[in-house]
Amino acid sequence: MNCRRVSHLISAYVDGELTGVEMLEVRKHLSACSECASEYESLRSTKALLAGLPTAKPREGFSARILSRLDEVTVPVYLRFWNKLAGYGRAYLTPITVGCAAFGIAVVLLPPNRLWGQWRWLPADLLCIPI
Ligand SMILES: [Zn+2]
Repeated sequence: MNCRRVSHLISAYVDGELTGVEMLEVRKHLSACSECASEYESLRSTKALLAGLPTAKPREGFSARILSRLDEVTVPVYLRFWNKLAGYGRAYLTPITVGCAAFGIAVVLLPPNRLWGQWRWLPADLLCIPI
């Protein structure tokens, strides 16, 4: 493992999020490379300092104020329609669905002899046959 790879993995190493093999490889590199070991120590101490900070607590009634403000917000009709449409798209438009829809449109729009007959509706260059 090289320094660049270790640099990418070092945060996950500190957090214990690597696989066993990756942990061993990073540990081996850190024992042999002073630059990466220094980066590791710096990151580890920074994360330890941050973990020791107290968490901020919101003031009394903060959630209620946010929720009341959200009730005041009005979303334009076109945005509501667009969000609904996008939601349907995310829910139903998988690649398979799109493929089936394209095939259905082709069946409806192309005459049967063009769709099923001899593949002549494709460009001759694509088929590599003389016409
Ligand atoms: Zn290194």
